[in-house]
Amino acid sequence: MTGLVVVSHSRALAEAAVSLAAEMLHGSDVRIAVAAGLDATTFGTDATAIVKAIEAADDGAGVVVLMDLGSAVLSAEMALDMVDPDVRERAVLCAAPLVEGLVVAAVAAAGGAPPSEVAAEAVGSLAAKQGHVAAPPPGLSIVAELSAANGLPADTSNQTPTYTAVVKIANRHGLHARPAARLVQESRLFDARIELRNLDTGAGPVPATSLSRVATLGALCGHRVEVAATGSQAHEALNHVLALADRRFDEQDPTSAAGPQSSAGHRAHGTPMPASPGIAIGPAVSMRAADVEIPDEVPGDSPTEWRRVRAAIAEVRREIQRIRVAAAREGGEGEAAIFDAHLMLIDDTDLLDKVRAHIAGGQAAPRAWIDAIAYVEAEFACVSDEYLRARALDVHAVGQQVARALTGAPAIRIEGEGVLIADDLVPAQVADLDTSRVTGIIMAAGSPTSHSAILARSRAIPTVVAAGPAVLGVPPGTTIALDGTTGRVFIDPGEETLRELDSADQQARAKTELARAGAFSPAVTRDGVEVLVGANLGSVQDARAAADNGAELAGLVRTEFLYLGRHQPPTTEEQIEVYRSLADALGGERLTLRTFDIGGDKPLAYIPQPPEANPFLGMRGIRLALAQRDLLDDQLRAIVAVAYETPVSVMFPMVSTIDELADARHRLDSAIQLAGRGRPAGLQVGIMVEVPAAALKAEAFAPHVDFFSVGTNDLTQYTVAAERGNPSVASLGDPLDPGVLHLIRSVCRAAEGRCLVAVCGELAADEAATPLLVALGVRELSVAPSSVAAVKQAVRQIDRGADTDLVHRALTAAGPRDVRAILG
Ligand code: PEP
Ligand code: MG
Repeated sequence: MTGLVVVSHSRALAEAAVSLAAEMLHGSDVRIAVAAGLDATTFGTDATAIVKAIEAADDGAGVVVLMDLGSAVLSAEMALDMVDPDVRERAVLCAAPLVEGLVVAAVAAAGGAPPSEVAAEAVGSLAAKQGHVAAPPPGLSIVAELSAANGLPADTSNQTPTYTAVVKIANRHGLHARPAARLVQESRLFDARIELRNLDTGAGPVPATSLSRVATLGALCGHRVEVAATGSQAHEALNHVLALADRRFDEQDPTSAAGPQSSAGHRAHGTPMPASPGIAIGPAVSMRAADVEIPDEVPGDSPTEWRRVRAAIAEVRREIQRIRVAAAREGGEGEAAIFDAHLMLIDDTDLLDKVRAHIAGGQAAPRAWIDAIAYVEAEFACVSDEYLRARALDVHAVGQQVARALTGAPAIRIEGEGVLIADDLVPAQVADLDTSRVTGIIMAAGSPTSHSAILARSRAIPTVVAAGPAVLGVPPGTTIALDGTTGRVFIDPGEETLRELDSADQQARAKTELARAGAFSPAVTRDGVEVLVGANLGSVQDARAAADNGAELAGLVRTEFLYLGRHQPPTTEEQIEVYRSLADALGGERLTLRTFDIGGDKPLAYIPQPPEANPFLGMRGIRLALAQRDLLDDQLRAIVAVAYETPVSVMFPMVSTIDELADARHRLDSAIQLAGRGRPAGLQVGIMVEVPAAALKAEAFAPHVDFFSVGTNDLTQYTVAAERGNPSVASLGDPLDPGVLHLIRSVCRAAEGRCLVAVCGELAADEAATPLLVALGVRELSVAPSSVAAVKQAVRQIDRGADTDLVHRALTAAGPRDVRAILG
């Protein structure tokens, strides 16, 4: 019997369509396989999944593949290229509408029709509906009125009349890539041909379904664009486009002063924030890929070359979809919209036709692609408006991305040496920076407590974040200076500023020298309170730096560094190796190994997680670890093995309940039992206090831990409800907020006389806060390796270890600014 395959961007849609079709079958058994969505909730299509579905649905009689729109069609075509030739022979891609087509196809297949007939039936499935709704619905009169108002009467002289209307473009930058992408996306949803003409310039008509063509309209703010729709859904399509234009094509305009679209305002006016101390001066460098060199290759036959193009596009599509999910999570739909434009572009029929023509003309895939994309780029570059012209850069970027996928050329790299300017950097990018070439970082976005900023600090790269998008326009090579201590940024600074920065730099260096002189002595207040000063580590290199700077222990090892940027988790043996190397580099000092803190802004490719609306409030830290027991057990086995050799503390991240701790301790006990050597002598167990509930329940936790370590980065974000990576709320996320201080006090009180309280969040490195933390009862501070000596020095400057007056004043202050004023 003919099998059916449903290819859709949405799993829910596909499954619902299959249920609907099953209703019509009254028990007849038709094989219907679904290849829909990247997972249960993420939209997208995947050729490999379609191949599997085709194979599952085919019992030898052939299959009919029904698709929704856009890339579903391309992915299905690609899947056909990938299946066994016999299977391909009996498979039919069917142009029918998904829902109606599937219902009709299922009935036809159940009746024993071969694939060609099933497909033909499905294609005709709209006829009934078309016949039924042939009379113009009420909405049509709106179109007619509009047409009349514009002096462009709807053409009703033939069977499929053309409906026209004129829209005035209200977007500040005209119909540039993002709004155009939205228009294209929506236009593809209708069974209608929609054409656009710019009445002010005479450009067009162009199909509304082609991004590259729409851009050539050069439609600027205020221009009048004629929309003409023909086809069975012409009137709906036109109404839809009018509504879309009315909503300014859903563009969030960062510069608009009023209205619901002003939410992205922070991006236009950055407030630079200090993220990693130090001064850097040098030419501005940007992070971009050098253009891919297209190799001279002998082309294979046309189908082979075309398959290469489609495989590369599929790879890039997946990558863009992945980044889009992350961008939407971090910056909302407004930030993610540009990726829709990129997705549109790689599926653009005009562009792909050009590629196909080049291949047919005897070019190999990379050359065919690059020539076609150059043509589109040139079309953009010819548009008179400067802003639209600049969108040629988007075309170029996507073109290069596909070219890289085709040729295997290396990804992004830094061009030149100096101060790196980037929109935002992910932790892996900061970790990879060559510090001999990058002397400082300025990020347009970001926040001081993001993991990228923490890494910059641990790598001692002076950094300023949240500088605003304007900084991205600084031409490469321009002299730029930044002060990572104060957050100041200077573009093309004058002599005087350079002198001032130089002198600040000298002073900072002198202070560092002084601190370094005492780096290897204990940190004791003038009245004799000893405070352990440790280092936070994210690599063996950090451990070496920590030892060089006099760290007395590793107060936090972010073990997730072992898990990130790879395709499978590290083995137990691999982990043992690394933990041993850390211990060796640190001269055998205590290692506080935090079990992997994955999730939040640190997702893992090999732990597929459903998208979460609020990842920082979702499956993260201990929650994820307890859900991924095998991973946790492997890690605990490695930790226990090393604990027989060197003093080790195990620390569980993001604990919020006693049950979680009990569960995690139970896993640890099992790992110890498995080792069969009894409990390691120096093994200690503690939790990170990062969740306000845990801080408030410290009394209940205290009997079950050897130490508490306050993670002020997360504790602050959860206390003041300000996501740590979000620049628009970064100023709220101040760890000196008295609310956070009250929680630290709650922990210290519960721990008094029972166990140690450490602080390993970034507040621990704030020398101004050191007297307050010590007065609250904190007895261990764990900081970036480069800050160890300075923090020790700050402890030595404290007169009274138990300054109750200072505590009282800080806890009763109105806000962090007042607390800072009290601290002086
Ligand atoms: C913290 O949250 O303060 C902390 C030290 O952990 P991380 O920054 O790795 O989340
Ligand atoms: Mg944390």
